[in-house]
Parts: sequence; structure tokens; C-alpha cells
Amino acid sequence: MKIRQGYDVIVTGGGTAGAIAGIAAARTGARTLLVEQYGSLGGVLTLGMSLKGVNDGDGYKALGGIGEELINGARRIDGATAVSHHPRHGSIMGQDPEAMKLTLMEMVSESGLQLLLHTFLVDALVDGQTIQAIRVANKSGLEIIPAKCFVDCTGDADLAARAGGTFTYGREGDAQVQPVSAIFRVGGIDLEKTWAYLEQHPEDCETPVGYTGNEYSVAAFHAKPGVGMAGFRSLIRKARAAGDYHIPRDDMGFNPLPGRREVTINITRVHNIDGTNPDDLTRAEVETQLQMLEATRFLRKYLPGFEDCYVVSSPFQVGIRETRHIQGSYVLTAEDVRAGRDFDDQVARGAYPLDIHDVNKEVPKAGNVEGGGTDLSKINRSYGIPARCLIPLGVANLTIGGRSLSASHLAAGSARGQPVCMATGHAAGTIAALSALRGCSPAQLSIRDVQSVLRSQNAVIERPNNQEEA
Ligand SMILES: Cc1cc2nc3c(=O)[nH]c(=O)nc-3n(C[C@H](O)[C@H](O)[C@H](O)COP(=O)(O)OP(=O)(O)OC[C@H]3O[C@@H](n4cnc5c(N)ncnc54)[C@H](O)[C@@H]3O)c2cc1C
Repeated sequence: MKIRQGYDVIVTGGGTAGAIAGIAAARTGARTLLVEQYGSLGGVLTLGMSLKGVNDGDGYKALGGIGEELINGARRIDGATAVSHHPRHGSIMGQDPEAMKLTLMEMVSESGLQLLLHTFLVDALVDGQTIQAIRVANKSGLEIIPAKCFVDCTGDADLAARAGGTFTYGREGDAQVQPVSAIFRVGGIDLEKTWAYLEQHPEDCETPVGYTGNEYSVAAFHAKPGVGMAGFRSLIRKARAAGDYHIPRDDMGFNPLPGRREVTINITRVHNIDGTNPDDLTRAEVETQLQMLEATRFLRKYLPGFEDCYVVSSPFQVGIRETRHIQGSYVLTAEDVRAGRDFDDQVARGAYPLDIHDVNKEVPKAGNVEGGGTDLSKINRSYGIPARCLIPLGVANLTIGGRSLSASHLAAGSARGQPVCMATGHAAGTIAALSALRGCSPAQLSIRDVQSVLRSQNAVIERPNNQEEA
């Protein structure tokens, strides 16, 4: 079996968190390899959903460092909008997934990070609690790749699970997970017509429960860059009654892509999918792809402005919201998230809303079924993410970036947001590099040293003193 050698750090998974973790580790001075199963970087970020929580709801920056550089790089080719205050999400920024993907590749090539694409993590070779090497599979067969420290950014904590790390799965008590959705892009639209329809039909705009201000108006949304809309419940109800709509979801959202006459559509949904089980994943792909077809017919027939729309692209894979949560020596809670809590050992911040899509749905039967919506509450004050949430119990030389960090089901509903994954990826990569270079485990590093290196890399650890926007 081939042995590929010479690395201090290996990052598994080159998605939203992993690409940034790899750049962070390489820039910190570690010889770093990133292993990714697909041929490009960015993972779920490249589904094109707008970034919520770059700033918190009060307008203070929550994401800096390499994630912010990525956004600025994409902005230089008109691939990211300004960040706007949003009454439901706290803040919102539109993005072009192709710009993000290619900008990430440019940043990687300038960072010294080495890539091994089209390669799947299969197993870990472990001695006691220390990972000696990973086993991967690719077109050449199996390879073994040793390193001093590892970063798991697979989203599903695949490496932590293979290495004997402690984790939970889904919601506490019943192991239910958020449903999966395939986000797809459509073009051939006349959005002005859609906004005009919404002006006439405020019942189709998703206004948060209890919201009484006047900020939640179509005119206010329309005026801001990168802002889409969610709702359209009356149209869905009508289509369901006519037998034209069977998706178990009663609302939908669209996100405009900057510089394109295209939007992403968030409407598909399949419940009871275990994203770590290939049979479930296959069912999810089949069902969501059939739902995309039905949704496109629905959009053409019912939504003004979408009469001539066509599918520009279906996603590289179905979007998984939740699977394993690693257990660190601290588990982030919903109370921490809601309170905007700070921690002595914080290494990143989060401000993505608490965003839970209805979890406990029965598997829908054939015919017309009522669908659910989404519980979402914005974060006005960003919260700190402790280093303890990025270091799994049971494995000495591993850090975690991205949605599988140590958090409760509810808290992970916020920590899974794209800006938060970028921030935890940055921290996890820097911690792994420092651990490899200093010859100690991530948990043994001085947290003050880690924080000072992260600050020197422009990561946002404390809430800034000045607001970015009112
Ligand atoms: C449907 C949906 C809608 C969302 N909407 C929004 C939104 O509007 N705004 C927002 O900010 N966030 C949103 N999110 C949340 C956010 O997009 C994701 O939680 C986040 O991007 C996940 O980042 P990650 O790095 O943890 O995982 P990913 O980006 O999924 O990266 C994981 C990477 O690891 C690779 N990988 C996995 N396993 C292996 C393996 N064994 N071997 C090799 N490679 C592997 C994958 O190919 C992938 O590249 C949404 C998520 C979903 C699913």
C-alpha cells in the first residue's frame, strides 16, 4: 500500500470549514495536506445560500480572518454583496458560489497548502488515543498518510468517529436530526415581477412571529443587496390543493445570486435521513431530485416572475444539516447562543440564527401531505466558541471545524451556519498547526498563545467595540 509522507497536519474535508482550516494551518507554518472527496473546494458553501451572521443582529462583526478574506476576494469579482442588516436573520450577504469556489482555490494555491482531491477518508490508524495516520481511497487504490495532528472538517465527524472520538448523534434523547434539502439554482427569471407580486401579497412574505416593526417590508428588502425572500405559503397551499405539490414543506425561500439573473431555491425536504448512511443518502438524492422537478413545475405555474424559469444546476450533493456532534470538554448550549455568551478560551464567534427545520416529521405518505416550516431566531449579540468545543474527547491529536463541533442539537442549529463554520475552520486549522509545530496536543496548548496567533491572523475572537452597520 502506498504511504504518502511529510506532513505535520492533515485536514480531512475541503468544504466551508476545511478549505479555510487548511489555509490557516499552512499559513501558520505547518506542512499541511487537505484531503477532499470531490474535485473542488467549498462544500455546502457552494450551494449558493446567502451568508447569515457575518455580522450579528446589532451590527457587530462576527467573522474576520480567512473567511473575511474569502468574502473580500469574491467581492473583487462581484461574487459577494455588502452585508446588510436583516430583521429575521440578523445580517445577510448574497454570494455567487462559483466566485467562492474559484477564489478559495486561488487562496489555497497561494498559501502553500497541498491538496489531494478525489480522495475519500476511509479509516484512521490509531495507537492508544493518538491518530498515527489516515487511510484513504482514490483512483490508485488505498493509501496511508501519517501526520502529527489532524483536523476533521468532514461535516459528519467521520475522522473523529473512525479514531474513537466521543460523539452524539442528532437531538438529545431521540437522535432525530434536521431534515435534508437540495438547494438548486434557477435562471430565466424576472425578479422585478416577483417583488411586485410580493408588494401586492404581503401574506406570502414570511414575517417573524411577533414582529411589529415596519422594517419587514418588501420595499426594504428589495432595496438591500443580496436579500431574498421566504414564505410563499398561499401559493404552496393553492398548488397542494390542486394536486401540483407534494413536498413536505409549506414555505420556500429564494436567494438572488449577485451579478446573475439567477436565484437559489430552498424548498426540497426529506425527513429521517441519516447523512452517514449511504442507503439513506441515496434515497435523499433520488427524492430531492424528483422534488426539484416538481418544484420547477410549481414555480413556473404559480410564482409570478418564474414563468420561464429553468434549472441552471442541481447541487453536487444533497445538503445535510445535522449528523454527529463530537463531544468536547464543553458542549455549547442554546442558552450560550441566545445570551451571546463569552468564554475565557473562545477562539471564534457565531451569529448565524438558531435555525431548526422541523425535525420530528413522520415519513410522508403518498398524496397530499401537510409540510412544516422552520423555527428561526436571530442572534443580536454574537457568542464566543470555546476551543474546548473544537477538541473531541478520546483523541489526543485532533481538532474539529465546521458543523460537527461540540454543541447541543439546538446550539448546532446556529453553529452550522456558513460564517460560523469558516470561523471554526480557521481556529481548528491554526490550533492543529500550533500543536504539530510545538509537539504537544491541542488541549495542552496555552490558550492565550492560540488566541494571540488567531488575533494576529485577524480572526474575530472578542466582540468588536465598533459596529460595522447600524
Ligand atoms: C440545505 C441547507 C441550507 C443552508 N442554508 C444556509 C444559509 O442560508 N446560510 C448559511 O449561512 N448557512 C446555511 N446552511 C448551513 C451551512 O451551509 C453548512 O452547515 C456549512 O456550509 C457546513 O460546512 P462544513 O464545512 O461543516 O461542511 P461542508 O461544507 O459540507 O464540508 C464538508 C466537506 O468534507 C468533504 N467530505 C465529507 N466526508 C468526507 C470523507 N469521508 N472523505 C473526504 N472528504 C469528505 C465533503 O465533500 C465536503 O467538501 C445550510 C445548510 C444546508 C444543508
